[in-house]
Amino acid sequence: MIDVELESVSKRFARTGDAAAVDDVTLTIGAGEFFTLLGPSGCGKTTTLRMVAGFYFPSAGHIRFGGQDVTRMAPNKRDTGMVFQNYALFPHMTVAQNVAYGLKVRKVSRADAARRVAEALAEVHLDGYGPRRIDQLSGGQQQRVALARALVIRPRMLLLDEPLSNLDAKLREETRTEIRRIQRESGTTSIYVTHDQAEAMAMSDRIAVMESGRVQQVGTPREVYHQPANAFVARFIGRSNVLSLPVATAEANRVEVALPGGGHVFAGAPEGHGLGAGDTALVSARPEHVTVVSATATGALRGRVTAVEFTGMTTHLTLDVDTGGAETRMTVAAVDTPDRIGAGDRVGLRLPAERLWVVRP
Ligand code: ATP
Repeated sequence: MIDVELESVSKRFARTGDAAAVDDVTLTIGAGEFFTLLGPSGCGKTTTLRMVAGFYFPSAGHIRFGGQDVTRMAPNKRDTGMVFQNYALFPHMTVAQNVAYGLKVRKVSRADAARRVAEALAEVHLDGYGPRRIDQLSGGQQQRVALARALVIRPRMLLLDEPLSNLDAKLREETRTEIRRIQRESGTTSIYVTHDQAEAMAMSDRIAVMESGRVQQVGTPREVYHQPANAFVARFIGRSNVLSLPVATAEANRVEVALPGGGHVFAGAPEGHGLGAGDTALVSARPEHVTVVSATATGALRGRVTAVEFTGMTTHLTLDVDTGGAETRMTVAAVDTPDRIGAGDRVGLRLPAERLWVVRP
């Protein structure tokens, strides 16, 4: 069942001149879905969320909730709960007063409000924190109060704008699990904004990857990871290597590309890729799927290591690789690289046939 629909939505701000902050975005979000807008700073994800919330009206296009047109409806009529990066709590009020705020505005009786506040605090695992002052809580606890405050009004939709940005790395991971648990339990349709691809992958049912105001791809975390639609999505999700290689043979769902060192390798390709023998294909190879072999191995790419970073679980190698034309910078994340590999070394790189994917420019 479709809950939220954006149809050809655009937003131009007078100050940004001709460039649209959000450019012809069409999306549908299902009831109960956890849907993420992901992209680099300035790509238009906050502006999109603010149009769903009603803080901005689109310059063009339509927004519908459950089939009803809300494009120009006032924010307080839309029945959405918002959670912001900076929590936006009232510092002079207690936790309970903060959570009760939306109920008071809605004229819910005192007894009902007290019960619902206690329920909401229990839901975010803050039972008994009602009388505390906001400044007596950690950042993670404050963000859970903000979540309780958004949920207590039982909104038809939860809108979250980078809610974890102010938390340290460990707390971010814990809190993202908590947010997803609470969202699953309440079944509230949620739209989540982040620039953090790992967070988006871990939390979302589906992700819309945005760049320059446009949606580049919509898919499940697995789809955008394994089958990126274009070079931008490939590089943004998981920092893929994107190589230009000549096509030897082409079929409906895969193409065979020639390697500069000799040999061929197959890469999966989307329906209607339109490539034929002699064309150049852009092939995405994940850093963790490329293997380091000897510099003399047959059918391997040849490269020179420029940097080695040991991160514990994996070692990241940066290499300049000969891909036929100009040298290409590649990254490899190897689980068991021999210790002796260092900057300046020449190595071979094997591309994983079953993991390569053809992307659009
Ligand atoms: P970030 O992660 O940095 O918040 P974002 O992807 O959420 O980025 P937006 O905040 O939606 O991006 O901004 C998209 C574009 O619109 C940017 O170029 C921004 O400068 C511009 N913009 C956003 N809000 C306004 C505004 N109120 N007036 C003018 N331009 C704006």
